[in-house]
Amino acid sequence: MKRVLLAAGAGISIAVMSPLAVALAGAAVQETAAGSTAPNNAGGGSWGRLAVGTVPAQWQAAVQAAGTTCSNVSPALIAAQIQQESGWSRTALSPAGAVGLSQFMPATWAAEGLDANGDGTADPLDPLDAIGTQGRYDCRLAAELTGVTGNAQDNMLAAYNAGPGSVLAFGGVPPYAETRGYVRNIRALMVRYTDPAPPDRATSTIAASGCTLPLPGSSITQHFGATNVRDSDGHPGVDLSIGRTAEQVVAACAGTVAFAGPASGYGPNFVQILHPGGFVTTYGHMNSIFVAVGEQVAAGQAIGDEGWQGDVVPAGPGGIHLHFEVRLGVWGPVQNPETWLAARRVQLQ
Ligand SMILES: [Zn+2]
Repeated sequence: MKRVLLAAGAGISIAVMSPLAVALAGAAVQETAAGSTAPNNAGGGSWGRLAVGTVPAQWQAAVQAAGTTCSNVSPALIAAQIQQESGWSRTALSPAGAVGLSQFMPATWAAEGLDANGDGTADPLDPLDAIGTQGRYDCRLAAELTGVTGNAQDNMLAAYNAGPGSVLAFGGVPPYAETRGYVRNIRALMVRYTDPAPPDRATSTIAASGCTLPLPGSSITQHFGATNVRDSDGHPGVDLSIGRTAEQVVAACAGTVAFAGPASGYGPNFVQILHPGGFVTTYGHMNSIFVAVGEQVAAGQAIGDEGWQGDVVPAGPGGIHLHFEVRLGVWGPVQNPETWLAARRVQLQ
């Protein structure tokens, strides 16, 4: 579920999104922030995995829950933010008066504080209350900043640090050294908190062509060329999904990682792989990335986790899925990925 957009990281950041699509995306974020459409984690919670042993055990469930409040947060982001805010000190107190694990200022807590553990008191020094409030507040900020240019997660984090007013005033991450450093540090810390090798990986069957299904075991949830409110000129890829748990996404064929990072609409974890012959396969909406630009990947090698980042309604039709495209050249014309894979003897369902 997404339109043709250009990669922010490619030096050309033109988001071709209709006002209707923007409005719909905004509504989805707000609805999710209210908690009514948070993705269902009951199936075992294999998505948004935290690296084992990185979060104190007594707070791990709270971090996992807060990290699924809306599509702009993840458990790794919540954990990285706590690391940056307080270094996991539940009694942390900043010179400015911010307190606790998530470093809430008294005025912010008065407006946002949540009794997340249901003990009758919303207390910023109670780690479980702080973590739950942090997730909800992050999502409120993201909803408030819908439409601001740049990366939605970066804008959200900057607002947590400098206030949403300054992000709105500057139309993005404000040029404060502290705020820029805050966003940069959390991005770096997120890598540490993300499990690079989840245990429940599906096994890929490599076809005689040397290629394989990019999401092993998945079926098509939206065909190439389908029209919908977001893709009035035709869905530029194929949506593949297994269900409500995020499984590993793998390289469809051997190649070189040409891009790995944020791209408008595709989310913060977007990957493009260049294959011999000039074809490029692209992987959108992922929750995490396991590869870097320039890396040689084999067919079937895990490159990230299926997710709901970017222009996706987590609980909507399709929900969590992989948006897979094939292009001739990086950002070249789209090919039909279904016939492209079929020609390579890769079985689609
Ligand atoms: Zn799609």
